[in-house]
Amino acid sequence: MAQIYERVALIGLGLIAGSMALAIRRNGLAGEVTGYARTEATRETARRIALVDRVCDTAVEAVKGADLVVLCVPPGAMGAVARDIGPHLKPGATVTDVGSVKQAVISAVGPHLGPEIHFVPGHPLAGTEHSGPESGFATLFVNRWCILTPEAHTERAAVENLTALWQGMGANVDEMDAEHHDLVLAVTSHTPHLIAYTMVGVADDLRRVTDSEVIKYSASGFRDFTRIAASDPTMWRDVFLTNKDATLEVLGRFTEELFALQRAIRQGDGELLFDYFTRTRAIRRGIIEAGQDTAAPDFGRVGPKS
Ligand code: NAP
Repeated sequence: MAQIYERVALIGLGLIAGSMALAIRRNGLAGEVTGYARTEATRETARRIALVDRVCDTAVEAVKGADLVVLCVPPGAMGAVARDIGPHLKPGATVTDVGSVKQAVISAVGPHLGPEIHFVPGHPLAGTEHSGPESGFATLFVNRWCILTPEAHTERAAVENLTALWQGMGANVDEMDAEHHDLVLAVTSHTPHLIAYTMVGVADDLRRVTDSEVIKYSASGFRDFTRIAASDPTMWRDVFLTNKDATLEVLGRFTEELFALQRAIRQGDGELLFDYFTRTRAIRRGIIEAGQDTAAPDFGRVGPKS
Protein backbone atom coordinates (compact mmCIF):
# COMPACT_ATOMS: atom_id res chain seq x y z
CA MET A 1 0.00 0.00 0.00
CA ALA A 2 1.22 3.51 -0.72
CA GLN A 3 2.74 5.69 1.98
CA ILE A 4 0.34 8.50 2.94
CA TYR A 5 2.31 10.52 5.51
CA GLU A 6 6.03 11.06 5.92
CA ARG A 7 5.83 11.22 9.71
CA VAL A 8 2.98 10.29 12.07
CA ALA A 9 3.05 11.09 15.80
CA LEU A 10 0.90 9.09 18.20
CA ILE A 11 0.25 10.83 21.52
CA GLY A 12 -0.81 8.22 24.06
CA LEU A 13 0.40 4.65 23.53
CA GLY A 14 -2.50 2.45 24.54
CA LEU A 15 -4.83 0.05 22.78
CA ILE A 16 -5.87 2.39 19.97
CA ALA A 17 -2.47 4.02 19.34
CA GLY A 18 -0.76 0.63 19.58
CA SER A 19 -3.14 -0.88 17.04
CA MET A 20 -2.66 2.11 14.74
CA ALA A 21 1.13 1.81 14.99
CA LEU A 22 1.03 -1.87 14.06
CA ALA A 23 -1.49 -1.35 11.25
CA ILE A 24 0.47 1.61 9.82
CA ARG A 25 3.67 -0.43 9.83
CA ARG A 26 2.08 -3.55 8.39
CA ASN A 27 0.54 -1.58 5.53
CA GLY A 28 3.47 0.79 4.90
CA LEU A 29 1.32 3.90 5.41
CA ALA A 30 3.95 6.20 6.95
CA GLY A 31 7.68 6.81 6.64
CA GLU A 32 8.18 7.09 10.40
CA VAL A 33 5.92 6.75 13.45
CA THR A 34 6.88 8.50 16.67
CA GLY A 35 5.10 8.03 19.98
CA TYR A 36 4.73 9.51 23.42
CA ALA A 37 3.00 8.29 26.58
CA ARG A 38 2.61 10.05 29.91
CA THR A 39 4.41 7.58 32.13
CA GLU A 40 7.96 6.31 31.87
CA ALA A 41 6.64 2.76 32.41
CA THR A 42 4.46 2.89 29.28
CA ARG A 43 7.24 4.49 27.25
CA GLU A 44 9.62 1.75 28.37
CA THR A 45 7.15 -0.99 27.40
CA ALA A 46 6.62 0.66 24.01
CA ARG A 47 10.39 0.76 23.47
CA ARG A 48 10.82 -2.86 24.55
CA ILE A 49 8.23 -4.15 22.09
CA ALA A 50 9.32 -1.63 19.39
CA LEU A 51 5.73 -0.44 19.04
CA VAL A 52 6.73 2.66 17.08
CA ASP A 53 9.94 3.70 15.33
CA ARG A 54 10.86 6.26 17.99
CA VAL A 55 9.46 6.68 21.52
CA CYS A 56 9.96 10.26 22.73
CA ASP A 57 10.15 11.52 26.30
CA THR A 58 7.95 14.54 25.61
CA ALA A 59 4.89 15.11 23.46
CA VAL A 60 6.57 18.20 21.99
CA GLU A 61 9.50 16.11 20.76
CA ALA A 62 7.15 13.50 19.29
CA VAL A 63 5.15 16.01 17.21
CA LYS A 64 8.18 17.89 15.88
CA GLY A 65 8.05 17.73 12.06
CA ALA A 66 5.04 15.38 12.06
CA ASP A 67 2.61 15.63 9.14
CA LEU A 68 -0.10 13.88 11.13
CA VAL A 69 -0.57 14.00 14.90
CA VAL A 70 -3.07 11.57 16.44
CA LEU A 71 -4.30 12.25 19.97
CA CYS A 72 -4.90 8.82 21.54
CA VAL A 73 -5.37 9.80 25.20
CA PRO A 74 -8.62 9.65 27.24
CA PRO A 75 -11.19 12.29 26.19
CA GLY A 76 -10.64 14.32 29.37
CA ALA A 77 -6.89 14.62 28.70
CA MET A 78 -7.11 15.82 25.07
CA GLY A 79 -7.30 19.56 25.86
CA ALA A 80 -4.17 19.61 28.02
CA VAL A 81 -2.19 17.64 25.45
CA ALA A 82 -3.31 20.00 22.66
CA ARG A 83 -2.27 23.00 24.75
CA ASP A 84 1.23 21.52 25.21
CA ILE A 85 1.85 20.60 21.58
CA GLY A 86 -0.10 23.42 19.85
CA PRO A 87 2.80 25.88 19.49
CA HIS A 88 5.18 23.15 18.26
CA LEU A 89 3.17 21.70 15.38
CA LYS A 90 4.54 21.85 11.85
CA PRO A 91 2.62 24.42 9.79
CA GLY A 92 0.24 22.60 7.46
CA ALA A 93 0.13 19.50 9.70
CA THR A 94 -3.10 17.62 10.32
CA VAL A 95 -4.22 16.93 13.89
CA THR A 96 -6.78 14.24 14.55
CA ASP A 97 -7.95 12.32 17.60
CA VAL A 98 -9.59 8.97 18.30
CA GLY A 99 -11.77 10.06 21.21
CA SER A 100 -15.11 8.34 21.75
CA VAL A 101 -16.81 11.72 22.19
CA LYS A 102 -16.56 14.46 19.60
CA GLN A 103 -18.16 17.77 20.63
CA ALA A 104 -16.33 18.02 23.97
CA VAL A 105 -13.00 17.00 22.44
CA ILE A 106 -13.37 19.55 19.64
CA SER A 107 -14.13 22.32 22.18
CA ALA A 108 -11.13 21.28 24.27
CA VAL A 109 -8.61 20.84 21.44
CA GLY A 110 -9.66 23.35 18.75
CA PRO A 111 -8.65 26.56 20.57
CA HIS A 112 -5.04 25.34 20.94
CA LEU A 113 -4.48 24.80 17.20
CA GLY A 114 -3.31 27.63 14.98
CA PRO A 115 -5.00 28.59 11.69
CA GLU A 116 -2.31 26.77 9.69
CA ILE A 117 -3.25 23.41 11.27
CA HIS A 118 -5.93 21.14 9.77
CA PHE A 119 -8.06 19.67 12.55
CA VAL A 120 -9.99 16.56 11.49
CA PRO A 121 -11.56 14.90 14.56
CA GLY A 122 -12.12 11.16 14.32
CA HIS A 123 -13.41 8.11 16.15
CA PRO A 124 -12.71 4.50 15.17
CA LEU A 125 -15.61 2.29 16.21
CA ALA A 126 -13.36 -0.53 17.26
CA GLY A 127 -11.94 -1.56 20.58
CA THR A 128 -11.69 -4.17 23.25
CA GLU A 129 -11.87 -4.06 27.03
CA HIS A 130 -8.06 -4.21 27.17
CA SER A 131 -5.78 -1.21 27.67
CA GLY A 132 -2.13 -0.32 27.36
CA PRO A 133 0.62 -0.57 24.75
CA GLU A 134 0.69 -4.37 24.71
CA SER A 135 -3.03 -4.74 23.98
CA GLY A 136 -2.88 -3.38 20.42
CA PHE A 137 -3.11 -5.54 17.32
CA ALA A 138 -2.79 -4.68 13.63
CA THR A 139 -6.21 -5.91 12.54
CA LEU A 140 -8.31 -4.06 15.14
CA PHE A 141 -9.78 -1.68 12.55
CA VAL A 142 -10.37 -4.16 9.73
CA ASN A 143 -13.97 -3.89 8.51
CA ARG A 144 -14.82 -1.47 11.33
CA TRP A 145 -16.12 2.04 10.85
CA CYS A 146 -14.15 5.16 11.53
CA ILE A 147 -16.22 8.34 11.77
CA LEU A 148 -14.60 11.67 10.89
CA THR A 149 -16.28 14.90 11.95
CA PRO A 150 -14.52 17.69 10.02
CA GLU A 151 -16.06 21.14 9.86
CA ALA A 152 -17.31 22.49 6.53
CA HIS A 153 -14.31 24.82 6.13
CA THR A 154 -11.69 22.06 6.71
CA GLU A 155 -9.43 21.57 3.70
CA ARG A 156 -10.63 18.52 1.76
CA ALA A 157 -7.11 17.29 1.01
CA ALA A 158 -6.48 16.89 4.75
CA VAL A 159 -9.72 14.93 5.20
CA GLU A 160 -8.96 12.78 2.18
CA ASN A 161 -5.45 11.87 3.37
CA LEU A 162 -6.78 10.88 6.77
CA THR A 163 -9.55 8.88 5.09
CA ALA A 164 -6.90 7.08 3.05
CA LEU A 165 -4.94 6.28 6.23
CA TRP A 166 -7.97 4.70 7.93
CA GLN A 167 -8.87 2.82 4.77
CA GLY A 168 -5.27 1.66 4.56
CA MET A 169 -5.67 0.21 8.07
CA GLY A 170 -8.75 -1.68 6.85
CA ALA A 171 -11.51 0.61 8.13
CA ASN A 172 -14.56 2.00 6.37
CA VAL A 173 -14.81 5.76 6.74
CA ASP A 174 -17.91 7.91 7.20
CA GLU A 175 -18.32 11.62 7.83
CA MET A 176 -20.97 13.30 9.98
CA ASP A 177 -21.24 16.33 12.21
CA ALA A 178 -19.97 16.06 15.76
CA GLU A 179 -23.36 16.55 17.44
CA HIS A 180 -24.90 13.73 15.42
CA HIS A 181 -21.91 11.51 16.19
CA ASP A 182 -22.41 12.00 19.91
CA LEU A 183 -26.10 11.07 19.72
CA VAL A 184 -25.43 7.99 17.55
CA LEU A 185 -22.71 6.82 19.94
CA ALA A 186 -24.87 7.48 23.00
CA VAL A 187 -27.36 4.98 21.53
CA THR A 188 -24.95 2.39 20.16
CA SER A 189 -22.12 2.46 22.69
CA HIS A 190 -22.24 4.82 25.65
CA THR A 191 -25.63 3.90 27.13
CA PRO A 192 -25.12 0.15 26.54
CA HIS A 193 -21.85 0.42 28.46
CA LEU A 194 -23.62 2.16 31.33
CA ILE A 195 -26.24 -0.59 31.39
CA ALA A 196 -23.52 -3.24 31.44
CA TYR A 197 -21.73 -1.47 34.31
CA THR A 198 -25.04 -1.33 36.18
CA MET A 199 -25.95 -4.96 35.57
CA VAL A 200 -22.59 -6.20 36.77
CA GLY A 201 -22.90 -3.90 39.79
CA VAL A 202 -26.36 -5.34 40.51
CA ALA A 203 -25.09 -8.91 40.36
CA ASP A 204 -22.34 -7.92 42.72
CA ASP A 205 -24.97 -6.61 45.14
CA LEU A 206 -27.14 -9.72 45.04
CA ARG A 207 -25.77 -11.50 48.05
CA ARG A 208 -28.02 -14.50 47.45
CA VAL A 209 -25.99 -15.24 44.32
CA THR A 210 -22.52 -16.23 45.36
CA ASP A 211 -19.41 -15.10 43.47
CA SER A 212 -18.73 -18.62 42.32
CA GLU A 213 -22.26 -18.98 40.90
CA VAL A 214 -21.98 -15.70 39.02
CA ILE A 215 -18.76 -16.90 37.41
CA LYS A 216 -19.88 -20.49 36.88
CA TYR A 217 -23.19 -19.69 35.18
CA SER A 218 -22.16 -16.50 33.44
CA ALA A 219 -22.37 -17.94 29.90
CA SER A 220 -26.03 -16.96 29.62
CA GLY A 221 -25.70 -13.30 28.63
CA PHE A 222 -24.07 -12.02 31.78
CA ARG A 223 -20.62 -12.85 30.48
CA ASP A 224 -20.89 -10.26 27.71
CA PHE A 225 -21.95 -7.69 30.28
CA THR A 226 -18.88 -8.46 32.38
CA ARG A 227 -16.65 -8.11 29.32
CA ILE A 228 -18.05 -4.67 28.55
CA ALA A 229 -18.00 -3.65 32.21
CA ALA A 230 -14.29 -4.49 32.37
CA SER A 231 -13.56 -1.55 30.03
CA ASP A 232 -11.12 1.13 31.09
CA PRO A 233 -12.56 3.17 34.03
CA THR A 234 -10.74 6.40 33.11
CA MET A 235 -11.92 6.42 29.53
CA TRP A 236 -15.52 5.58 30.42
CA ARG A 237 -15.68 8.09 33.23
CA ASP A 238 -14.58 10.70 30.68
CA VAL A 239 -17.10 9.49 28.10
CA PHE A 240 -20.04 10.07 30.45
CA LEU A 241 -18.71 13.38 31.74
CA THR A 242 -18.15 14.67 28.21
CA ASN A 243 -21.17 13.21 26.39
CA LYS A 244 -23.55 14.10 29.18
CA ASP A 245 -26.54 15.49 27.27
CA ALA A 246 -26.86 12.77 24.65
CA THR A 247 -26.32 9.99 27.19
CA LEU A 248 -28.94 11.42 29.56
CA GLU A 249 -31.39 11.77 26.66
CA VAL A 250 -30.96 8.12 25.64
CA LEU A 251 -30.95 6.94 29.24
CA GLY A 252 -34.29 8.73 29.81
CA ARG A 253 -35.83 6.85 26.90
CA PHE A 254 -34.27 3.60 28.10
CA THR A 255 -35.77 4.02 31.55
CA GLU A 256 -39.24 4.61 30.08
CA GLU A 257 -38.99 1.45 27.97
CA LEU A 258 -37.71 -0.51 30.95
CA PHE A 259 -40.73 0.57 33.00
CA ALA A 260 -43.02 -0.48 30.14
CA LEU A 261 -41.45 -3.94 30.07
CA GLN A 262 -41.55 -4.11 33.86
CA ARG A 263 -45.29 -3.36 33.75
CA ALA A 264 -45.82 -6.00 31.02
CA ILE A 265 -44.09 -8.62 33.16
CA ARG A 266 -46.13 -7.67 36.23
CA GLN A 267 -49.39 -7.75 34.25
CA GLY A 268 -48.51 -10.94 32.43
CA ASP A 269 -48.71 -9.17 29.05
CA GLY A 270 -46.99 -11.85 26.97
CA GLU A 271 -48.12 -10.29 23.70
CA LEU A 272 -46.27 -7.05 24.43
CA LEU A 273 -43.11 -8.90 25.43
CA PHE A 274 -43.25 -11.15 22.36
CA ASP A 275 -43.77 -8.24 19.96
CA TYR A 276 -40.99 -6.26 21.61
CA PHE A 277 -38.50 -9.11 21.42
CA THR A 278 -39.46 -9.79 17.80
CA ARG A 279 -38.62 -6.20 16.89
CA THR A 280 -35.26 -6.32 18.67
CA ARG A 281 -34.39 -9.60 16.99
CA ALA A 282 -34.75 -7.89 13.60
CA ILE A 283 -32.19 -5.25 14.70
CA ARG A 284 -29.71 -8.00 15.53
CA ARG A 285 -30.21 -9.49 12.05
CA GLY A 286 -29.54 -6.08 10.54
CA ILE A 287 -26.23 -5.81 12.41
CA ILE A 288 -25.12 -9.22 11.13
CA GLU A 289 -26.19 -8.36 7.57
CA ALA A 290 -24.15 -5.14 7.79
CA GLY A 291 -21.09 -7.26 8.62
CA GLN A 292 -20.64 -5.70 12.08
CA ASP A 293 -20.92 -9.01 13.95
CA THR A 294 -21.17 -12.71 13.27
CA ALA A 295 -24.11 -15.07 13.57
CA ALA A 296 -21.82 -17.73 15.06
CA PRO A 297 -22.79 -19.03 18.50
CA ASP A 298 -21.22 -16.91 21.24
CA PHE A 299 -20.81 -14.18 18.59
CA GLY A 300 -17.74 -16.02 17.29
CA ARG A 301 -15.80 -14.66 20.25
CA VAL A 302 -13.15 -17.15 21.10
CA GLY A 303 -10.00 -15.27 22.04
CA PRO A 304 -9.22 -12.69 24.71
CA LYS A 305 -8.98 -9.97 22.06
CA SER A 306 -12.55 -10.32 20.85
P1 NAP B 1 -5.45 3.20 26.87
O1 NAP B 1 -5.09 1.87 26.32
O2 NAP B 1 -5.83 3.31 28.30
O3 NAP B 1 -4.26 4.23 26.57
C1 NAP B 1 -4.35 5.57 26.93
C2 NAP B 1 -3.02 6.26 26.70
O4 NAP B 1 -3.19 7.64 27.05
C3 NAP B 1 -1.87 5.73 27.53
O5 NAP B 1 -0.71 5.70 26.75
C4 NAP B 1 -1.73 6.76 28.64
O6 NAP B 1 -0.40 6.90 29.07
C5 NAP B 1 -2.14 8.03 27.96
N1 NAP B 1 -2.70 9.01 28.92
C6 NAP B 1 -3.66 8.78 29.84
N2 NAP B 1 -3.94 9.91 30.53
C7 NAP B 1 -3.12 10.86 30.03
C8 NAP B 1 -2.92 12.21 30.33
N3 NAP B 1 -3.63 12.83 31.30
N4 NAP B 1 -2.00 12.90 29.62
C9 NAP B 1 -1.27 12.28 28.67
N5 NAP B 1 -1.42 10.99 28.33
C10 NAP B 1 -2.33 10.28 29.00
O7 NAP B 1 -6.66 3.87 26.05
P2 NAP B 1 -7.27 3.53 24.63
O8 NAP B 1 -8.28 2.46 24.78
O9 NAP B 1 -6.19 3.40 23.62
O10 NAP B 1 -8.11 4.87 24.38
C11 NAP B 1 -7.52 6.04 23.91
C12 NAP B 1 -8.57 6.90 23.25
O11 NAP B 1 -9.25 6.12 22.25
C13 NAP B 1 -9.64 7.45 24.19
O12 NAP B 1 -9.90 8.78 23.88
C14 NAP B 1 -10.86 6.61 23.85
O13 NAP B 1 -12.05 7.38 24.02
C15 NAP B 1 -10.63 6.25 22.41
N6 NAP B 1 -11.24 4.98 21.96
C16 NAP B 1 -11.13 3.87 22.73
C17 NAP B 1 -11.73 2.69 22.33
C18 NAP B 1 -11.64 1.44 23.17
O14 NAP B 1 -12.45 0.53 23.02
N7 NAP B 1 -10.69 1.32 24.06
C19 NAP B 1 -12.40 2.64 21.09
C20 NAP B 1 -12.44 3.79 20.30
C21 NAP B 1 -11.86 4.96 20.75
P3 NAP B 1 0.15 6.09 30.35
O15 NAP B 1 -0.01 4.62 30.03
O16 NAP B 1 1.55 6.50 30.40
O17 NAP B 1 -0.69 6.53 31.51
